[in-house]
Amino acid sequence: MRATVWHGKRDVRIDDVPDPAIQDDTDAVIRVTSSGLCGSDLHLYEVLTPFMTPGDVLGHEPMGVVEEVGPAVTDLRPGDRVVVPFRIACGTCWMCRRGLRTQCETTQVTEHGMGARLFGCTELYGAVPGAQAEYLRVPQAQYGPIKVPGGPPDDRFVCLSDVLPTAWQAVAYADVPRDGSLVVLGLGPIGAMACRIARHPGVAGGASAPWQQGAERSAVPAACLGRRGHPQPDGDQVRPRPTCRAARMRTTTRVVASRTRVPSASGASVGTV
Ligand SMILES: [Zn+2]
Ligand SMILES: [Zn+2]
Repeated sequence: MRATVWHGKRDVRIDDVPDPAIQDDTDAVIRVTSSGLCGSDLHLYEVLTPFMTPGDVLGHEPMGVVEEVGPAVTDLRPGDRVVVPFRIACGTCWMCRRGLRTQCETTQVTEHGMGARLFGCTELYGAVPGAQAEYLRVPQAQYGPIKVPGGPPDDRFVCLSDVLPTAWQAVAYADVPRDGSLVVLGLGPIGAMACRIARHPGVAGGASAPWQQGAERSAVPAACLGRRGHPQPDGDQVRPRPTCRAARMRTTTRVVASRTRVPSASGASVGTV
């Protein structure tokens, strides 16, 4: 299969790699239909190089169609459409039973003192082959994958893998009182999603502000997200950027499928199919 492979610092390519296979009874293999590019992938591109190994397959925000399941996976069958959360958890250990799935005791990377294994995120998180690939082995598939209905496009679901729960948790940590307001610094996918989520529990106006390293705070006006009845930002500089990394992740999928170039966050090409 084709996959996004880490070769070294600032050296990521699309390569042929072996197809994944069922290894444990709780595994599934999915055919990836969409797969996100994340800010975390940029960490791997450069900062976390010491914890990467040439040949590592990147990616942790996938959805797709089940191809095969192990004998212990009873809730999935080939053909099911699923979103796969980026963390790998068993669902039954002490941590999982208390909702602390990123600390799953079954998959913890204890040799590095870290929490649950993650797809495509360095040896610190288990060096699990990632999801910017045509196929993905999904460990703990008796628990992790989220079944979604057929019909709507992937964009409607794929943020369930990382963007939506990450943003949801950020809003939960903020613990904004009812009728309070919320400021989100940074209008990337997570920031924009956090503003959307903030509306649900009744926070009055998810206020947001674009943020750039080195920007002077006084030059960054707060902006609401543009819900009907909310004040709109003045000028393009505070207009939210596309709100979901689905756009970028669909680009990734097209790369795998259509043999075009892979854009990096800076717009430079980092690989070709
Ligand atoms: Zn991510
Ligand atoms: Zn667990």
